[in-house]
Amino acid sequence: MLANRLASVVLLNQLPYFFSCSAWKEVGHRNNLLLMAKNASPSSSASRPVVPTPEADFDLAALAVPPNLSVEEKLQAIERQIASLPMEVCVVLDAEGEEVLRLQGSDSSVEFTTQQVGQAQGGYMTHNHPAGTGFSWRDVRTAHHLNLLQIRAVSNLEPPVVHVLTRPAGGWATQECEQLCVSEFNRLKTKFGMPGTAPEDYPAALKRKINVRLGKFAVTLVNKLHLPYNTVVLS
Ligand SMILES: [Zn+2]
Repeated sequence: MLANRLASVVLLNQLPYFFSCSAWKEVGHRNNLLLMAKNASPSSSASRPVVPTPEADFDLAALAVPPNLSVEEKLQAIERQIASLPMEVCVVLDAEGEEVLRLQGSDSSVEFTTQQVGQAQGGYMTHNHPAGTGFSWRDVRTAHHLNLLQIRAVSNLEPPVVHVLTRPAGGWATQECEQLCVSEFNRLKTKFGMPGTAPEDYPAALKRKINVRLGKFAVTLVNKLHLPYNTVVLS
C-alpha cells in the first residue's frame, strides 16, 4: 500500500503536481493533506523523496522544544526531529515561542478538537509531510482560519525542506481565501460530477484527476492571495 503510493508519487513527480493516495478525501471535507508542487523551491530540486519507515518508534512526549532559542531556531529544532517520521506530528508555539500544543496524527493528517483549534489561534504551527510534499490547500486554509503567524510543513526529503507561509503584513484575506475554495469546489462538482457516494466508490482515475486539480489549487491559492512563501533547507 505504502509502496504503491510512493510509486504514484514518483510517477506524478514527473508532472508539476503530485499527491498522496488519501488526498482525495479533501473532496469530502475530511481533515487531511494534499500537496503542492515544490517548483517554487529551487533548493529542493536537488532533494529526493525519502521512503518513510513505518516501524519507526516515536514518542511524542520525548519531542524536545529547546528553551532559550529564537522562535525560528525552536521551530527548526522541532522540524529536524519530525522531518522523517512516517506519521504527521504537529506542534504549535505561541507568538512568544512557548509551546501550546503537540499532536500526533496519521500518515497524511492531524485531527484537531475545537479546544485545540482555540489553542493554536495566532501561533506558529509546524508539521511534517511524510510523503515529502509541499503545502496542501488545506494547510493554506488553516493558516487563514487560525490567523496563524506562520504555517510550516517540513517535507521528508534529504535534506529536509521546510515550506513556510507567513501571515501577510495586512493580515490574511480569509474571506477571499474562502471564496476561492468554494469556487474551486463548485468547479470540481461541475467537472467531475462529484456523485456524493462514499469516496471508496470513486474510480481511481477520477480520484487521480481530482487530486491533480487540488494539488494545482494549493499553488493557485498561494499565488492568487499573494502569500509570503519561502522555504528553508534544514542542515
Ligand atoms: Zn500539511
